[in-house]
Amino acid sequence: MMFTLIHQDKTSKARLGKLAVAHGEINTPCFMPVGTQGTVKALSPQELENSGAQIILSNAYHLFLRPGLEVIKKAGGLHNFMSWQKPILTDSGGYQIFSLALLRKVSDEGVSFQSHFDGLKHFFTPQDVISIQQDLGSDIVMPLDECVHYPCAKDQAEVAMKRTIDWARRSKKALGSQFSVFGGHRTPDTEHRELLFGIVQGATYEDLRKTCAERLIEIGFDGYAIGGVSVGEPQNLRYNIAEFVSRLLPQESPRYLMGVGTPEDLLEAAGTGIDMFDCVVPTRYGRNGTAFTSIGKLTVRNALFSQDYKPLDPSCDCYACRNFSRAYLRHLFNTEEILGLRLVSLHNIYFYLQLMQKVREAIRQDRFMAFKKEFLSNYNKEG
Ligand SMILES: [Zn+2]
Repeated sequence: MMFTLIHQDKTSKARLGKLAVAHGEINTPCFMPVGTQGTVKALSPQELENSGAQIILSNAYHLFLRPGLEVIKKAGGLHNFMSWQKPILTDSGGYQIFSLALLRKVSDEGVSFQSHFDGLKHFFTPQDVISIQQDLGSDIVMPLDECVHYPCAKDQAEVAMKRTIDWARRSKKALGSQFSVFGGHRTPDTEHRELLFGIVQGATYEDLRKTCAERLIEIGFDGYAIGGVSVGEPQNLRYNIAEFVSRLLPQESPRYLMGVGTPEDLLEAAGTGIDMFDCVVPTRYGRNGTAFTSIGKLTVRNALFSQDYKPLDPSCDCYACRNFSRAYLRHLFNTEEILGLRLVSLHNIYFYLQLMQKVREAIRQDRFMAFKKEFLSNYNKEG
């Protein structure tokens, strides 16, 4: 079994699991730091590992454009190229094509677009996108999907959802075709077996989400992702979608909520049975000088901290909190020293990974809801 359900929390739908992929095992629920360009911004792979990262996310669209597949293939794949030997999930870049690329044109065949930075024209079929991720040596591969923005008219959302299903089917076929000797699906102990997740789309329409989930389950994937969230919708709508789709997905498969979110989002969704998360928030906020702490968000530049010699978060034991004061970090940000954004990024990633560690422990002890309540009451105290 590549995904093992270890324990079901008795106070919520939260679950403890273990996902085995080619480069190692991942305890779930997990948070995946985002390394879009083959680097988690401002952090070394060693710092990530020391912070407890078990898997990171990278992006096929960005790496295909720069440095290009040849460069990464010659390095022996993305793991070697970036010197990270633990699991990597690659996003297909569907979301980036729909949000960044210029002059895109979608057809049932695939999507043509112009690169957002040099204007060169490209055409991706779903099969191309699988092949790119195989070249990268990804552990978990995401199919090309069509993302829509919020709000989106229902007929438009339906077309995108149906196309997403069709592309998912073709992606599975593309992934399996090289290994037809195993009857189209490789055995879990095959060395470089990558997992393929199906992505549930359907915007904010429950009937579309339901149809999409049902069709994807019929086709059969190694895991299921909920896409098209964090695209500008209000928080309660995001929670509703996550909960609604999570209920439709098979118990025995990992569930991944794409691009979410804040600590509150993670707790809310983990409570509905989501197993995997990724988000740029901890590193992006870190570079801007906002720290996530057990008592809420803290703006490092705040004049209040000019002579505050406490660590960012007194209850955190990351390298930044063990060694530096708020006053010093504030000074680094005010003088635009690189170390400042590195330390706050490091703290934020550590904070997120520790939060997931605590979530897993709480599930194990059947006290997820109590943990969530306690965490949020501290977190919102100084909000
Ligand atoms: Zn810290």
